[in-house]
Amino acid sequence: MAEPARGRIVVISGPSGVGKTTVVRRLRECSALPLDVAVSATTRPARPGEINGVDYHFMTAEEFQRRRQGGEFVECFEVFGGGHWYGTLWSEITPRLEAGRWVVLGIDVHGAEAVRQRFPEAITIFLKPGSLEQLEKQLRGRRTEPDEAIQRRLAEAERELAQAERFQFQVVNDTVDHAVGQICQILMRSGG
Ligand code: 5GP
Repeated sequence: MAEPARGRIVVISGPSGVGKTTVVRRLRECSALPLDVAVSATTRPARPGEINGVDYHFMTAEEFQRRRQGGEFVECFEVFGGGHWYGTLWSEITPRLEAGRWVVLGIDVHGAEAVRQRFPEAITIFLKPGSLEQLEKQLRGRRTEPDEAIQRRLAEAERELAQAERFQFQVVNDTVDHAVGQICQILMRSGG
């Protein structure tokens, strides 16, 4: 009997503020591919308008660590040292792969590296800002964080941009429409 088609993992990474969340959400509408977006877990508090189970699985630090020790995460990291934990739960991935779905992960570069090691066949895409100035504008535009946090994210962004070469594909997020269109083409060419 032929093996059932297994799904694929698609990693979309890039610096904080580059627009990963917006682009990842838009991927659902653009393609004939069976794409699902994995919902990450985090210990950071919800921003206004964010919904538990939709934007993130919001958890206390205690719950996160308990589940981490229980081996429930594919990857998890304390993003921006001393800040909050973020991670991808196995339960967001395995059932979908088994059902032949493609699972999209919008995660930071450390998470991307960990996923690549577990799933060498993953499709990896690095989303770049048009410029560092554009990135700073986007981070400030959120108006949800103190200046110190923005400075920390910008410093981290410069380190993250240096990782772009490690990804199979690089896409500039100059406009969301353009980035989404390019990613869809990449995915279609990768087996859609
Ligand atoms: P934010 O707090 O702005 O939603 O996300 C902060 C950073 O955490 C972003 O760079 C985002 O991509 C990253 N992130 C979100 N979910 C995950 C995850 O599941 N794993 C990892 N490693 N990073 C994540």
